[in-house]
Amino acid sequence: MTETKDNTGMSEECANFFEIAFEHHPMQTIAVNLEGVIVAVNRAKRNSGDRAAEKGMKMYVDYAAGHDIDMFAELLKVMQGTETVTYPMMAYRDKILDITITPTPYGALIISADVTQRIITEQKLKRSEERFRLLVEQISCMAIQGYKLDGTITYWNKASEKLYGYHADEVIGDNLLETIIPPGMREDVKLGMDFMIKSGEPIPSGELALMRKDGTLVTVFSSHALLCDHNGDSELFCVDIDLTEQKKAEDLLRKNEALLRALTEAAQDAIIAMNEEGKIFLWNPAAQRMLGYSCGEVIGQPLHECIAPEDYREMSKKGIEQFIQTGEGAAIGKTTDQRALHKDGHVIDVQLSLSRLPMENGWGSVGILRDVTEQKLAERALRESEERLRVVSMTDQLTGLYNRWHFSHELQREVDRSERYGQPLSVIMFDIDDFKQFNEIYGHAAGDRVLQILGHVVKGSMRKSDIACRIGGEEFFIILPMTSRSVAQTIAFRISTSLKMQSLDFALDKKITFSCGVCQYTSGQSPDDLSRRVDQLMRQAKSEGKDRIICDQT
Ligand code: GH3
Ligand code: MG
Ligand code: MG
Repeated sequence: MTETKDNTGMSEECANFFEIAFEHHPMQTIAVNLEGVIVAVNRAKRNSGDRAAEKGMKMYVDYAAGHDIDMFAELLKVMQGTETVTYPMMAYRDKILDITITPTPYGALIISADVTQRIITEQKLKRSEERFRLLVEQISCMAIQGYKLDGTITYWNKASEKLYGYHADEVIGDNLLETIIPPGMREDVKLGMDFMIKSGEPIPSGELALMRKDGTLVTVFSSHALLCDHNGDSELFCVDIDLTEQKKAEDLLRKNEALLRALTEAAQDAIIAMNEEGKIFLWNPAAQRMLGYSCGEVIGQPLHECIAPEDYREMSKKGIEQFIQTGEGAAIGKTTDQRALHKDGHVIDVQLSLSRLPMENGWGSVGILRDVTEQKLAERALRESEERLRVVSMTDQLTGLYNRWHFSHELQREVDRSERYGQPLSVIMFDIDDFKQFNEIYGHAAGDRVLQILGHVVKGSMRKSDIACRIGGEEFFIILPMTSRSVAQTIAFRISTSLKMQSLDFALDKKITFSCGVCQYTSGQSPDDLSRRVDQLMRQAKSEGKDRIICDQT
């Protein structure tokens, strides 16, 4: 092999050797002579998409100018030595290259690796890691701590500072067991950590009461993760969520529930709640006392089947079905009088205050039932006694006929009615004959007995619509609505006859008679006019010899 060395110190043969030797090398490779002039360019370089590195160009002067540092000077410097020098991450055009220059006796090999993609990926990863680190650092609701497996604290985020009261600088390097683990728990935590080291399994998540710097306890939900760092060392991370507020809310809820339970248990009124299926889910002791069923017998049973009286059950069922869908019902938000069925079948009067309850799939309700049976009975008794009083107030006690006060009232009413509807109205007035004398002979009690008998006779002789009154000692007045004078006369006659037929055991032969006037109302007359007129007729009967009926003929 002949060697033709040119003044650059590299023979053509040598250049060819480089060309052949590195042609298929995957790294982009350029061979330069001692003057930095390109003598060979391999395929990887040619295909790199850079501008063509042509032989004869001066490397870093004609071809690859534009690096941040004077690469041409560096090239010459390297060629003076024997060491390969690497220039990492050199910016060249829009790329980042790791450049390695290897000196040879004839110049140098310049190998460049395009690390643009790798650097971009690394930067992205770094940014993402940075973001994540910041997130972990700043996130306020999670106290995150890092520990070595022996418990030495390695990481302590801001939320941990806030939660436990230690600044990161105070605790990093200290042992977990002496910081936030309460003395009573230390042994267990130590065992847990030993188990974790042996098994590689993290401690299971759970609720813990840990200790703040000031010695107070804080309830947290603690989760653990076992991570391996790049050195292969394991690190334990704890994520603690402060449950103080949740605990407070739970406590309050528990207290409210206890209060509600106490109220429900102690209530004198029955408290019954129904869910959105119309089934009973609350039945307090008062409900048991009032309706007979124990709690166990009715919970889960349809409400209407348990407490609606039979005659009302179908209606109650429909009402409940409609209410569940709409939340609307006539009794909602009100206190109403209802009836409820006792287990033994008797119906009790209740006062029901009903409220609706929002449920997941519709509406439920809660009802407070007060047993008002006693009250209803008292009301009924009062009403009856009032009615009795009313009847008494208008009734003559001796004869059972209406009294004078009621007579005036009724006469006025019937006169008005007759005037309005143009229907006939007649009246009868009579006075017992010689009653003074009767009393004198047979005694006052016998006289009273006669008055009673008379009352009985009158009632038996008149019609339902007629109104008979005792208006004086032995004077009587009968109002006969929708009755003509002739019918009235017949009735008067019937009374007179019937009275005469009464046998008096205390005066066997004595016949009781009366003198009687009968007349019909004439339009335009006042009740007083009518009374006067019939009184006149009665007096006429007296004066004409008593025991007779004088009927107005006009
Ligand atoms: P005349 O035929 O004219 O009506 O005579 P008389 O005796 O019936 O009439 P008088 O007005 O003189 O007397 C009415 C008597 O009625 C007086 C009283 O002794 C009697 N009398 C009135 N109220 C009662 C009563 O509640 N019980 C009894 N036993 N007698 C009564
Ligand atoms: Mg009289
Ligand atoms: Mg008389």
